[in-house]
Amino acid sequence: MMTETSAEVTTPLGDGRRVIGFQSLNTRPAYWIVCVDSSWSLDNNGKPDTIYDHSDEICTAIEEEFGIAECGYCGDRYGAAGCDECRDEPEDEGAFPHFRFGDGVCWFLIRDEAAQCVQ
Ligand SMILES: [Zn+2]
Repeated sequence: MMTETSAEVTTPLGDGRRVIGFQSLNTRPAYWIVCVDSSWSLDNNGKPDTIYDHSDEICTAIEEEFGIAECGYCGDRYGAAGCDECRDEPEDEGAFPHFRFGDGVCWFLIRDEAAQCVQ
């Protein structure tokens, strides 16, 4: 069951002064709150340093904080009973806020120039 709708990544990336909501298309409308560098553009068509350019880094930060929701062997969500390796994993392990890349990611601005990331 997905009951939470947002989860905050406590480790800031870059200067951490731009706060974004980061979503995996598979776990929308839930989103992770991530403090990223204020120079990272939200616009994919903007200057080279975009959120998109740093999306791998953001995904890794989410994975490190919350863990991955998918089996490394069969690729199924934990709890879906995909293979011998993940059959006994609890369903919660496959649910938000565990990270699931799935069909892609998107993001939106929450606030800019935040003084500090919430600890
Ligand atoms: Zn599996």
